[in-house]
Amino acid sequence: MAGSKPDIVRDLPALRDAIAGWRRDNRSIGLVPTMGALHDGHLSLVRCAAQECDRVLATIFVNPSQFAPGEDLENYPRDEAGDIDKLAALGTALIYAPGIAAMYGEGFATEVRVAGLTDKMCGLSRPHFFGGVATVVAKLLLRTMPDRAYFGEKDYQQLLVIRRMAADLDIPAEIVGCPVVRAEDGLALSSRNAYLTASERAIAPALFETIAAAAERTADGAACAETVRWAANELAARGFTEVDYVDIRDAASLEAVESWRPGDPPARVFAAAFLGKTRLIDNVPVAPFE
Ligand code: AMP
Repeated sequence: MAGSKPDIVRDLPALRDAIAGWRRDNRSIGLVPTMGALHDGHLSLVRCAAQECDRVLATIFVNPSQFAPGEDLENYPRDEAGDIDKLAALGTALIYAPGIAAMYGEGFATEVRVAGLTDKMCGLSRPHFFGGVATVVAKLLLRTMPDRAYFGEKDYQQLLVIRRMAADLDIPAEIVGCPVVRAEDGLALSSRNAYLTASERAIAPALFETIAAAAERTADGAACAETVRWAANELAARGFTEVDYVDIRDAASLEAVESWRPGDPPARVFAAAFLGKTRLIDNVPVAPFE
């Protein structure tokens, strides 16, 4: 099927029809939710889904409810024609690209809130964010009822929130996490990298370099508080305009970790920092695991 144009549906009855057909034929379904402006990070999820499922369903929806007023909703990069070509080249069976009204009907009033995992890191600086994500992903999972749904470890806290939400709401999809895809210089691919000026782009790989060095220090037994201080100073010294957070946390619970020794549960270093108006996030494991 690679190369043939995927069907594009924008309304729920057409989506349900397509899925019902696959179900009748006993096809397994892999869902890849995205906000479009697709890059190799997104496409890695599509490739993974294609390996594990008979039919890949990608969604493109820039979800207003996960943007706060003043954030970049209006300017968020959009390239539907380019996205369709990229998805077609990978054999994607169906693209679901609803408009806002098709996602949030008249009188829409429900929000899915995941406690605990969301009261730290990105949840502190973007308090609206995880409610918006959990709600729209719950809707996408319920609309499509996939066997598996694929999310990037790039947004690691988001991945854990979605996994918790799906388990708590008895949504019977396996939530699959896929590794971070990076540019050659280490910068995690992100649609928002398009906002970076040439000079900001030159500084940006310091985010990965710094958290990778922090992970190494932690694996060598350094106290996490001291390593976090070092990393935040390093990011500022390397040219980041504002450091939102650097945290070293348990990879499953996101509880803070004071120090780490081999044999301890997996931990990760997380960071968010601004280059001008652009907020970048990244994370790495303290030591290879899984
Ligand atoms: P977005 O379009 O930014 O909402 O991202 C859609 C999905 O792609 C999410 O599950 C992201 O975690 C994932 N993703 C984005 N960038 C990357 C990357 N560099 N590596 C792996 N997955 C990614």
